[in-house]
Amino acid sequence: MVVAALTAADIVTETADDVVLTDEFRAAWRGEIDRLQALDRASYLASFFEADRETMRIEKNPDGSVTVRADRDHLGEWPSTMAIDADVAAFLTLQEWFPEWDELTGGERDSLVAQLRLFLEACPACEADLTMEESAMTPEGVPRVRCADCDTTLV
Ligand SMILES: [Zn+2]
Repeated sequence: MVVAALTAADIVTETADDVVLTDEFRAAWRGEIDRLQALDRASYLASFFEADRETMRIEKNPDGSVTVRADRDHLGEWPSTMAIDADVAAFLTLQEWFPEWDELTGGERDSLVAQLRLFLEACPACEADLTMEESAMTPEGVPRVRCADCDTTLV
């Protein structure tokens, strides 16, 4: 990850042995998550993906993950609807905070947003502490992050 650039933009800060989100960025991201959660998800996704609201499909899969489609286009897959809110909020917040954002490719943006979710410490749904489950891995090989209180899967 582009830690130096993110640090310069006050998005993350390096402690002795870790990289963490700054309180300011965390609050801005959190505020954006709250704003999105007050909206209709299909509507905000339609405007985010520049798709027609009527064609938006948010489908829950048997394993609990969620697939978003517009008509026949597969727009993405997330471990939960809460993760969708967190990612779109991160995208919008980074766009505002990160000067280098415009220079990133679509793939770089997606991976940055997905990595940012690993920095979430409190559940966006219920504010409980999140736990990393070393025993359960995602298909990408990172430990699952799940809320023990409301069972929302974030990663
Ligand atoms: Zn929760």
